[in-house]
Amino acid sequence: ISPIRIAIAGHGNLGRGVEAALTRNADMQLAGIYTRRPPAQLQPLTAGTPVHAMDDLPGHADRIDVLILCGGSKEDLPRQGPALAALFNTVDSFDTHARIPDYFAAVDAPARANRKTALISAGWDPGMFSIQRVMGEALLPEGATYTFWGKGLSQGHSDAVRRVPGVAGGVQYTVPVPQAVEQVRSGSRPQLTTRQKHTRECFVVLAEGADADAVRQAIVTMPHYFDEYDTTVTFITAEELRREHGAMPHGGFVIRSGHTSAGNSQVIEYGLQLGSNPEFTASVLVAYARAVHRLHQQGQYGAKTVFDVAPGLLSPKSADQLRAELL
Ligand code: NDP
Repeated sequence: ISPIRIAIAGHGNLGRGVEAALTRNADMQLAGIYTRRPPAQLQPLTAGTPVHAMDDLPGHADRIDVLILCGGSKEDLPRQGPALAALFNTVDSFDTHARIPDYFAAVDAPARANRKTALISAGWDPGMFSIQRVMGEALLPEGATYTFWGKGLSQGHSDAVRRVPGVAGGVQYTVPVPQAVEQVRSGSRPQLTTRQKHTRECFVVLAEGADADAVRQAIVTMPHYFDEYDTTVTFITAEELRREHGAMPHGGFVIRSGHTSAGNSQVIEYGLQLGSNPEFTASVLVAYARAVHRLHQQGQYGAKTVFDVAPGLLSPKSADQLRAELL
């Protein structure tokens, strides 16, 4: 069988992660990388990988089985998702939870009209965590679902810290409160406030002449981002920031705690400890690209989410092999 031809639209953290993931999936091959920047500026992981201008995509439809969209959720995907789903089978990681229903509709119409399959919002959250939330509710209808994030680097909160006057650089980690996680694991089903579930840890490089107390105060009282949390601010040097905070770890837990009878509590836990958030997210996108290729071959067109895809479709193994080895 010929390999599935995958292309990457957008070469940031996620795009580079998809390149790396494709080297570990023998049934797929990288057909090319597409970017809005001058293609010569990009450095693909593997020398010789073709890099093209994003504008060349419409002419390359016959070279690509599935296009993995690696643009940002805020500015890029709302435009790229619907436009490219009219031309290609796509997979993306759109993660603005509140806007997923609108985004689904915007992608579904062009995909259906052009007999394409478009899987939206894959990754870990939304993505693998979403599946655990559905499973938890379906298996234990009487219960409560808890999602804890971290310890992990939050891009949005790090950006917010860096915008504070007097800050020259910085990162923010979201950290689950250990007591809250233990309480939930025990099956006690506590009601937890925002402050009780997560803390926020900021590591900040001060600009020259900046007042540390003023910077700390501006961060911990920032509305929406920090005011509802217990936030710590630790000042570090630019060298420490580079040396110790360059990785993008993340992860977390989804826990469903329920009862099947008065005396029997049941707890389901799914956890992720990710050394690199974008590389793991990219690995999920690549597995879903395989599923999208198969769904398209079956004539299943339109927008899909992880809820619509059977797990066996993600695997390179045949259904026979999966039954024999993994059931
Ligand atoms: P980046 O900011 O690294 O990349 C986004 C886009 O910006 C790229 O596609 C690229 O497009 C452009 N870009 C990248 N680097 C540069 C640069 N140096 N100069 C100019 N433009 C650049 O974002 P990430 O790859 O880290 O994340 C993409 C999205 O993935 C996030 O917005 C997030 O929503 C989503 N995500 C989802 C997760 C989930 O679990 N569902 C988890 C993690 C992330 P181009 O090549 O066209 O210029």
